[in-house]
Amino acid sequence: MPAVGARVQVVNGYAMNQADINRQMLPWGDKEISRFLYRAGLFQRRGWLESKAEFMADRLALRDQERDDRRICLECQHIQRSGGCFIAAQGRMPNASKRMQPVTDLLQRCESFEWQKP
Ligand code: SF4
Repeated sequence: MPAVGARVQVVNGYAMNQADINRQMLPWGDKEISRFLYRAGLFQRRGWLESKAEFMADRLALRDQERDDRRICLECQHIQRSGGCFIAAQGRMPNASKRMQPVTDLLQRCESFEWQKP
């Protein structure tokens, strides 16, 4: 259950291209490969084209290696098909419109984030 009083804290966007990611990425093991496939599939099921889904899955693999604690809304179980945020729609996100449609591909910190589980 997300914390009451949750706020979205946007810290930084991702401003990397594939070459930047590849240059910084360490080799993957089985876990990283499974995570990549899961994320790329999830993002496509949530409406992204394969190329964007795979790019972001790569970017998030690098994020994990860097122990960056930021997340994107498309990884969260509260993002809805409409693009809205369920927590905001329920009025549980102070100072946020119930119709808020968060940017889904922005690395950020949100107190209400919860992993979308396989
Ligand atoms: S979808 Fe999740 S991460 Fe995004 S604003 Fe809503 S609760 Fe926060």
